[in-house]
Amino acid sequence: MEILEKRIRQDGELLPGNVLKVNSFLNHQIDPDLMFAIGQEFGKLFTGEKITKILTCEASGIAPALTTGLIFHVPVVFARKSKPSTLNKECYETEVFSYTKQVTNKINVDKKFLSKDDSVLIIDDFLANGEAVKGLINIAKKANSKVAGVGIVIEKTFQGGSKWIVDNGYHLESLARIANFDNNTVHFVGEE
Ligand code: 5GP
Repeated sequence: MEILEKRIRQDGELLPGNVLKVNSFLNHQIDPDLMFAIGQEFGKLFTGEKITKILTCEASGIAPALTTGLIFHVPVVFARKSKPSTLNKECYETEVFSYTKQVTNKINVDKKFLSKDDSVLIIDDFLANGEAVKGLINIAKKANSKVAGVGIVIEKTFQGGSKWIVDNGYHLESLARIANFDNNTVHFVGEE
């Protein structure tokens, strides 16, 4: 997605450990016009898939998930990282290792929001080793929901998560695919 790649080049900052900081438009301050364009793009890429719900993880997945939900006119469910007192024990839960924070978190979704009748589109901001997506797939499996596809805003192709998703038969669409950060520069797939 050209406008996204342009924005990454313009505003992205490279941090140690192959972390790309994009907090001026995605991870802290959010650009709503760009998020809307992202929702529209996922709308095109997943046309034809049966989607009853969008599933993401708090916090940074919510913005692109919301605009995608707007396009498909379906509810957006985000997995929570902590169990608030209002969320009773009736939830699907799984563990996720966080790439950026290097800690394991539990994520959970209230059982009333996912069921065997759902076909979910998983959306997330970044794909690195695939732990977050695997966690969301686990939650969907626990609910006996079908996974219609996985939509990622920024994929770091060199970190293996994308290979795992495709090898396991899921329909993966990533809007920006980063091949490497050689010479401290973002190189997208196809232009290395
Ligand atoms: P994974 O679980 O695929 O290893 O990592 C995905 C999660 O880690 C994303 O949900 C995102 O929150 C975070 N993440 C991974 N790599 C990056 C990165 O380069 N930049 C930012 N901002 N977040 C990342």
